[in-house]
Amino acid sequence: MIIILKQTILPSEKDNIKQILEDKGFIVKEIVGKEDTVLGAVGKVYMDPREVEVLPGVASVVPISKPYKLASRELKKEDTIVQVGKVKIGGNRVVLMAGPCAIESREQIMSIAKEVRESGALILRGGAFKPRTSPYSFQGLGEEGLKYLQEAGKAYDMPVTTEVVSPKDVEMMTHYIDMFQIGARNMQNFELLKEVGKTGMPVLLKRGLCATIEEWLMAAEYLMANGTDQVVLCERGIRTYERATRNTLDCSAIPVVQKLTHLPVIGDPSHATGIRDMVAPMSLALVASGASGLIVEVHNHPEKALSDGPQSLYPKQFEKLVRDIQILCPVVGKSLEKAPRIIPQTIKDESAQPSVKSSNIIAFQGERGAFSELAVRRTFDEEVKVLPCQTFAQAFDSVASGLAKYGVLPVENTLGGTIFDTLDLLASHPSLTVVGEQTVRIIHNLIGFEGVELKDIKKVYSHPQGLLQCKNYLEQNLPQAEAIPFFDTAGAVSFVKAQKDKSLAAIAGAPAAVFNNLCLLAEGIESNPLNYTRFYVISREENAEQFRSSSKLNCASILFSVSNNPGALFNVLKILSDNGLNMKKLESRPIPGKPWEYSFFVELELTDEEQLKKVTPSLKEATVSFRVLGLFSAAH
Ligand code: PEP
Ligand code: MN
Repeated sequence: MIIILKQTILPSEKDNIKQILEDKGFIVKEIVGKEDTVLGAVGKVYMDPREVEVLPGVASVVPISKPYKLASRELKKEDTIVQVGKVKIGGNRVVLMAGPCAIESREQIMSIAKEVRESGALILRGGAFKPRTSPYSFQGLGEEGLKYLQEAGKAYDMPVTTEVVSPKDVEMMTHYIDMFQIGARNMQNFELLKEVGKTGMPVLLKRGLCATIEEWLMAAEYLMANGTDQVVLCERGIRTYERATRNTLDCSAIPVVQKLTHLPVIGDPSHATGIRDMVAPMSLALVASGASGLIVEVHNHPEKALSDGPQSLYPKQFEKLVRDIQILCPVVGKSLEKAPRIIPQTIKDESAQPSVKSSNIIAFQGERGAFSELAVRRTFDEEVKVLPCQTFAQAFDSVASGLAKYGVLPVENTLGGTIFDTLDLLASHPSLTVVGEQTVRIIHNLIGFEGVELKDIKKVYSHPQGLLQCKNYLEQNLPQAEAIPFFDTAGAVSFVKAQKDKSLAAIAGAPAAVFNNLCLLAEGIESNPLNYTRFYVISREENAEQFRSSSKLNCASILFSVSNNPGALFNVLKILSDNGLNMKKLESRPIPGKPWEYSFFVELELTDEEQLKKVTPSLKEATVSFRVLGLFSAAH
């Protein structure tokens, strides 16, 4: 049962409730949600819910209807974020795990680890105990393999996962690995589940070849009831009558499972298909279905692999796949987790490690629930605090003054073009620099009061761009309604809410509806779905490295002015061209206080940071003023 606690509950009352339940024989878990705190009580015992309902501090008691209890969404509404070493899985992230099917030698795992890490994998996989269909096939290197796996993980700064096949190996394995993998063939090996659950460590739980979704979640329940709450589910294809592929990938399981459980679910396109050429399309299908990540088999010499060679990607193929996934992620409202950049040992400073901590405050322009807040949430941990600012200038100033550590500001929209405010404010804030980039797909929704019919809506509020982008929908579905421009989309929603007038509605992103407790009356109403906004993450110089160290820097923004001579701009562009620097964007902006003089804003694609350093002296020579606005990692 779920025991919903009163907000006014005293710590002593909470302890008392826990004690009573534990004395009865229940396992009790406390879950602190955004809206309320609940206790989950599960076990083989029975207690009349009315007995619990009368205890001091209890608001209500709800039985959990599903056979799996700790794993169910009924118990915990918010997504569980599983932490494997430094890597977080779940929420808005897509996390890639890669490596060979089996660890074959020290050299093999070292070499593959290096390649997958450079391409963007965050977790290293590799089997040391292989549950092979034939007893004559390679069975794995055992503990020796674990040693190589651990060494490769340490060398390339990746947590590692490997399959456990026997309860007797569990304790030994805890010394080498960061996450257990329970294989498809062992999904219902209950003794193994119990033993692994007791370690409290993260577990990757593959779906059994013939398991229903409910059986799969019951296996997760075994792990959780025994002591771990860090379970990641993995859809890896099920056995059907179809023989064209090794298994049949059940993509539809992903959204089904996400409704039933709070645990993250990822996909394994390699075992699902068994065929190399099908791994990339099915990877995209899994991400499109909502998977929180992928586990992919990659081998440097698949033709010589001791197991699963035919389904293993070449490192180059994996690299291409990562780029494709990165492009797809914003379409489904997610972002690909980036591999921390490998910092040369000499400048490695523990205090400047990748994780951008939750104590940070992040500024954005707009009201709570704005698309800019979505960009913040996509870039930082769930726990960061946000500072909504009325204007762009206020957001910049709050970062410059140290009130906020980072700011997330829009620079460009695929339909509306460049957002000049951000460029001009960067120019006038020399202490600030661009450290990152994020893209958000702009999905507009009609937001209003519950139960309202479209024909009864008289006024629709939104940012002028929002109204324009939903013109077709408004004309066809709300011909009677007046479209009223508002300074900001999320602000329009809170305005409508405050009016308490059911004939009003607003157009904004879904989080604004959640934040204001209003309803989505219609979703995805924009005329053009290719509507994306690109944001810059800005910070003061002293906080730049901490953010940047978590990614490969392959973009630069520069700002310069040139003398008023023929060919002056051309000369600068020629330097870029001669040095193989691809210019992605060029804007000219009037220089404040200097009528008819302009500065130029350029975005460049880099192969590495050194490329820009090398040309900087010649650029300085060819310009009147020159500034690198920032170095960052491309969001797409
Ligand atoms: C594996 O990941 O190497 C593996 C054996 O997977 P599964 O258990 O899904 O077959
Ligand atoms: Mn395999």
